[in-house]
Amino acid sequence: MLIHKALATIIIAGLSFITTTCPAAPEQPKPETPKPMYSATGHNITPLTQAQIQEHAKGLTQEETRIILNKGTEPAFCGNLTDNHLQGTYICKLCKLPLFKSDAKFISGSGWPSFFQPVDPDHVVEKPDNTLGMKRTEILCARCAGHLGHVFPDGPPPTGRRFCVNSLSLSFIENGHEMPDQAKPAQFKTAYFAGGCFWSVEDTFAKLPGVIDAVSGYQGGNDDSPTYKEVSSGTTGHAESVMLTYDPAVISYQQLLEHFFKIHNPTQGNRQGPDIGPQYRSVIFTTDEEQHKLAKAFIEAQQKEGKWSDRKITTEIMQAPKFYKAEDYHQDYHARHGGACAIPD
Ligand SMILES: [Zn+2]
Repeated sequence: MLIHKALATIIIAGLSFITTTCPAAPEQPKPETPKPMYSATGHNITPLTQAQIQEHAKGLTQEETRIILNKGTEPAFCGNLTDNHLQGTYICKLCKLPLFKSDAKFISGSGWPSFFQPVDPDHVVEKPDNTLGMKRTEILCARCAGHLGHVFPDGPPPTGRRFCVNSLSLSFIENGHEMPDQAKPAQFKTAYFAGGCFWSVEDTFAKLPGVIDAVSGYQGGNDDSPTYKEVSSGTTGHAESVMLTYDPAVISYQQLLEHFFKIHNPTQGNRQGPDIGPQYRSVIFTTDEEQHKLAKAFIEAQQKEGKWSDRKITTEIMQAPKFYKAEDYHQDYHARHGGACAIPD
């Protein structure tokens, strides 16, 4: 691997007549679920499937269904939130995504709750609406596509816009009251895996739905300012490691462990295929007691009846020490240059 990387570095420098010996990247299967999308405020705004929308819609009344799913409008001055002056957050009736805050609400006199801006611009989608012989702009919930109302260019400062919303499209959560789980921002967690060349480990984890970020680095050794050259010498004690940021609401730690064992050979000790040295050893660096327990149980189960049960699993589990980010040219390497590493037998 050291040789591969050295050659590849030369290629980056422009000497393209030298090639790496990594095999061509196999065609990646399309993920079964789309990559989650997150708003600026950290909420998961991945569009719901029709099946998920129908599941949520089971709790709606007939009138709410008419408005939210069939783009209806409630009669003016009839909604229960038009004259609501309490402080709090207005969330989507269907999927619970926060949409507006009381500090952006104003009295428009229109007969519907009116706001000059959404809580996060990513949470409200705008769409041209030419029905009823008018040119208007419809507003919808970004996550469930539920109909909210329309936005008009006649609002007060600072935006000059009026988001005119049906009361029945909203639920109100007063300040100091617990928000539903679906209304909360995602709580990202961190995980670390070392399994040979970090290019490949980073690349395959980064493709998983629920993995927000994957960073290549060094971990588990004594050198407190490691460089690739030093780590490659095998004398620092560091392993090539990958730091993951993931959304446990989308992908569990157990699923990360399962993926880790699919992308490397955990029985090779201080080696991973042609890459030899302690920097290529297999390690799960855990960040809390829960991860530690899951990792331990996972390896025990794999040793008993997993794919690698006929050999001794050498994967170490240790509490995550400081992670040192690798040099920039190692980040997203396969994504930028192609190629993939085969899993050694
Ligand atoms: Zn919604």
